[in-house]
Amino acid sequence: MEPIIAGNWKMNKDPAESRSLVQKLLELVSDVKERAIIIIPPFTSLPYVSEIIWNSRLRLGAQNMHWTRQGAFTGEISGLFLKQLGCEYVVIGHSERRHIMGETDEVINKKLKTALEIGLISIFCVGETEQEKQNGQTEEVISRQLSQGLQGIENEVHKLILAYEPVWAIGTGKTATPEQAAQVHRFIRARLKKNTAILYGGSVKPENVDVLMAQQDIDGVLVGGASLKPESFARIVRFSIP
Ligand code: PEP
Repeated sequence: MEPIIAGNWKMNKDPAESRSLVQKLLELVSDVKERAIIIIPPFTSLPYVSEIIWNSRLRLGAQNMHWTRQGAFTGEISGLFLKQLGCEYVVIGHSERRHIMGETDEVINKKLKTALEIGLISIFCVGETEQEKQNGQTEEVISRQLSQGLQGIENEVHKLILAYEPVWAIGTGKTATPEQAAQVHRFIRARLKKNTAILYGGSVKPENVDVLMAQQDIDGVLVGGASLKPESFARIVRFSIP
């Protein structure tokens, strides 16, 4: 399996900044093979980024979508529209959507089902909060997120990408140790019983990507902050390439 390196820009980069970031990135990774590189800009930049990368190795993803295909849902985005803009991937259940926007496992399950139906590959995020970690509930929380999120689609889990993102490590500069991350990845792998790619996310940067990617059950990384600078994201993409 090719390592997957995904960059989630969150609510950063206007169209002009997005163009310049992705153009620079393309130059820095143009010789890289054997990596699946996924760029996940804000909705408003998707058409611009799509136009620049269509003929390259870079793939396009969106940060969220609604669970219906169209209709009276003011302010929401249909996965079908995202596909028309060239998106192949969509992030579902990011912790910022769970914890800031109040998304439940039930909503996440509906979105995962719709993405499967319409042919978008979900990057399905799970992970425990700091408090849950301190209470020793990491496996219990992830188990619940997996069973409720995947209800009715357990047999299709190989069509998704999983991302383990401990909430306490997102945007905090704190990274799970490679051993901590690997342990949770092993747990998720055993729980899924299918060959699904599992990414690690949470303050991944050029300085820690090599040691994280050296872990057996880490198939790639989902990068937030460090994907906003072309040099740092390119360095992450190029891990272990001399
Ligand atoms: C993320 O938002 O998915 C993420 C992992 O962010 P950061 O790399 O900034 O911690």
